[in-house]
Amino acid sequence: MSLAFYPNSPVSETNKWMMTFHATIPPDDSCQNKTETSMTRDNITRVATAGQEFHQKKLPKGWFWFRKWDFEDLASISWFAGIHVLAACAPFVYDSGAFKLAVVLGFMSGFGITLGYHRLLCHRSYKVPKWLEYFFAYCGAHAFQRDPMFYVNTHKNHHRYTDTDRDPVSTDYGYWYCNMGWFFNNDLIAAKCRESRGGQYSKVPELKAQWFYRFLHDTYFWHPAVLAALLYVHGGFPYLAWAMGFRAVVVHHFASFASYYSHVWGDRPWNSQNSSTNSWFAAFFTLGEGWHHNHHAFPTSARHGMEWWQTDPTWELIKFLRLVGLATNVKLPTEAEKARFPLH
Ligand SMILES: [Zn+2]
Ligand SMILES: [Zn+2]
Repeated sequence: MSLAFYPNSPVSETNKWMMTFHATIPPDDSCQNKTETSMTRDNITRVATAGQEFHQKKLPKGWFWFRKWDFEDLASISWFAGIHVLAACAPFVYDSGAFKLAVVLGFMSGFGITLGYHRLLCHRSYKVPKWLEYFFAYCGAHAFQRDPMFYVNTHKNHHRYTDTDRDPVSTDYGYWYCNMGWFFNNDLIAAKCRESRGGQYSKVPELKAQWFYRFLHDTYFWHPAVLAALLYVHGGFPYLAWAMGFRAVVVHHFASFASYYSHVWGDRPWNSQNSSTNSWFAAFFTLGEGWHHNHHAFPTSARHGMEWWQTDPTWELIKFLRLVGLATNVKLPTEAEKARFPLH
């Protein structure tokens, strides 16, 4: 379902730009079939240079509002507005039970992203029984970062196209694009990632093959609605405002701030030639995900905080799961992998 708003206004310019974007992407992708770790500076430069031939560095005026909005774009922005309104109401209806539940759900949905969506589904850093994988993924689905197929597909493209114009969450377009711009624009993401359409999700055949992820994708926007209804029935408006609105807003803004911050400010100890950074500040707010430079150097590693002082709660949880026999095949960087990116 797609809705074209304002067909004779700036939308036509934006859509024209989007069509050009699609049409001029060359058939052969020099990033294709290369993992991020195998990309040298030369490759990155070559891709970036080639990109400048067919990409515009700046998004066109009106790119956010005046363009084609599809159902998922509209549903995403509606939910996004809704949780912010609820969060704004939360301080006026404070309730200690609602606050405690918000903290619990905040950690569950936060770990659902870091432990489930990111380290398990995107990078297969470890294995767990299927029922536990689905539980983690379901927790992540309540963090308002979209469904696993969308998130994993986008994130794989982020690794593949880091520091090129095709990075779907590129910091080149500024903070607000990283925070929410990419989130509500299926066509733009599809164009940047060289997919024929936002819903194609070509990088996640393993998820598309499983009914659970197809079901979550097809019914994604109903799940927070059900949770919201349960919270309201349980505790009334204060529970809705805190455990749905305030909790989701905090999780979203921590995650999006850190994903921007982790490519702009911080340390780059490995000689891995990309813009990702390590930051204790970002790691603090994201359950260990702020050791992003380590992660770009060793994407399949379950451990992102490589030094003893690099706190990484998500890794601590994986260690616990390994201890009790639930996590197996836990991946860490090998000495050979570390040797490829010597410390500065
Ligand atoms: Zn990154
Ligand atoms: Zn990653």
